Amino acid sequence: MHSDLLTLPRVRDRKWNIKMLPKEESTMHWKCGVCNLIWDGTHPPDTCPKCSSPAEKYDLMTEEQWALVERSRLTNGLYARLLAVIPEIEEMARQGVEDDLDPWCRALHQRILDDVEFWGKSIRAEINGHVNKGKWG
Ligand SMILES: [Zn+2]
Repeated sequence: MHSDLLTLPRVRDRKWNIKMLPKEESTMHWKCGVCNLIWDGTHPPDTCPKCSSPAEKYDLMTEEQWALVERSRLTNGLYARLLAVIPEIEEMARQGVEDDLDPWCRALHQRILDDVEFWGKSIRAEINGHVNKGKWG
């Protein structure tokens, strides 16, 4: 399933393709088997800074595992940015409906108001789903 996710054409074709993100080739990524903290470096920490587990609890992440983390960070980051501006867009659209400059303008703002409410609810549900599945890297 994870391999399928990486090859979704609609994601690969986007400008924000993860392959275009700056990448430090030499960085290795380790994951704590107890608390899931991700540690970047040539070796894991002696003691996990989050749960105090010893270095032996850390596993070196595969390239595929790391690619999924990068992708989930990108997706969740974009969702978080979108959620942050939704209240402003709602306010702008509410004002546009109130101003009622002309029927098209009013209809546009009403549509934005309806859509943005749906986006907010859906994105919150999606992020919640990622967190519950442990996909929040
Ligand atoms: Zn830990």
